[in-house]
Amino acid sequence: MTAKCPICETRTVAKEYKPFCSKRCADVDLSRWLKGGYAIPGRPADDAEETPGSDQSAEA
Ligand SMILES: [Zn+2]
Repeated sequence: MTAKCPICETRTVAKEYKPFCSKRCADVDLSRWLKGGYAIPGRPADDAEETPGSDQSAEA
């Protein structure tokens, strides 16, 4: 099995910090998680509506 750090995608994963390669990456993930849990900046659910004409305009 190959374990990859989800943060930096290094193939080495430390037992202590599984599934991360190091404490640093574990911290990064943790702070992301915390931020995501505490405050998602101004994104209500109905923001997912389609924006007309923004998708298929670039075709060079
Ligand atoms: Zn990492």
